[in-house]
Amino acid sequence: MSFECAICGKEEYSLLRANHKELGSIKLCVECWSGEHSKKKLLPLEGGCGCGR
Ligand SMILES: [Zn+2]
Repeated sequence: MSFECAICGKEEYSLLRANHKELGSIKLCVECWSGEHSKKKLLPLEGGCGCGR
């Protein structure tokens, strides 16, 4: 079973699950994750610590 990065379409065995502002719940490769994260497009996943804002 393989997965594809939702942004670049690269097949990657270890994808990161992320909550994207525009795309919803997607899986990303590490490169795209850090790219989207630096663009502040990622929302924190639910179930984490609620101590943020
Ligand atoms: Zn990617």
